[in-house]
Amino acid sequence: ANQIDQLDFAKTDGMLPAIVQHAYSGEILMQGFMNDEALAQTFNSNNVTFFSRSKQRLWCKGESSGHTLELISVHTDCDRDSLLVLALPNGPTCHLGTRSCFTDDQAVPMLQKLNDIIESRKGAPVDSSYTASLFAQGIKRAAQKVGEEGVEVALAAVAGDDNELLNESADLLYHLLVVLAARDCSLNDVLAVLAQRHNGG
Ligand code: AMP
Ligand code: ZN
Ligand code: ZN
Ligand code: ZN
Repeated sequence: ANQIDQLDFAKTDGMLPAIVQHAYSGEILMQGFMNDEALAQTFNSNNVTFFSRSKQRLWCKGESSGHTLELISVHTDCDRDSLLVLALPNGPTCHLGTRSCFTDDQAVPMLQKLNDIIESRKGAPVDSSYTASLFAQGIKRAAQKVGEEGVEVALAAVAGDDNELLNESADLLYHLLVVLAARDCSLNDVLAVLAQRHNGG
């Protein structure tokens, strides 16, 4: 249930912390502060807008860089003094050029992290890694692996071997990400399809 009409602005001097999360990958992108005007402009413009404490004015993220955050939804916590904003970024969210302001690799969700590693192997020397060799062999090899691993998942599930099921599922997810990357599609593109279906679009 959305309770953003009953926010507790008084507790924190009219300003609530707002955590921005990627609507599909779940990655935390940045954190800012919103007063009621910033929240209203966020809804009206469909672009995430904060109150900048340094500028002392409303700040639409991306107003000069163009790296805006398209609003998907806003949520609050148990005592309504904090905001969680789901958004889709247009470009890097951090002004230093990274996708997230939180640059610690260990803070990236696991599938996103794996996808980042796979993407980084695209131009790598063929013999430098298994992923690099898969890319070098072309789409058919990676596609064949998805087929094989899919069958292995099915066999492990039917056999009731859960340890095998977990391992083969990991193989399948990894090879699926390689196939997507080889086609210049991404995990987030797949999640967008799932989100559209969920929303009946
Ligand atoms: P932008 O809102 O992207 O047009 O950037 C305008 C200015 O806002 C930048 O020069 C930075 O000073 C600041 N800024 C932009 N993005 C961030 C961010 N993610 N976190 C903190 N400050 C930012
Ligand atoms: Zn709270
Ligand atoms: Zn930043
Ligand atoms: Zn396998």
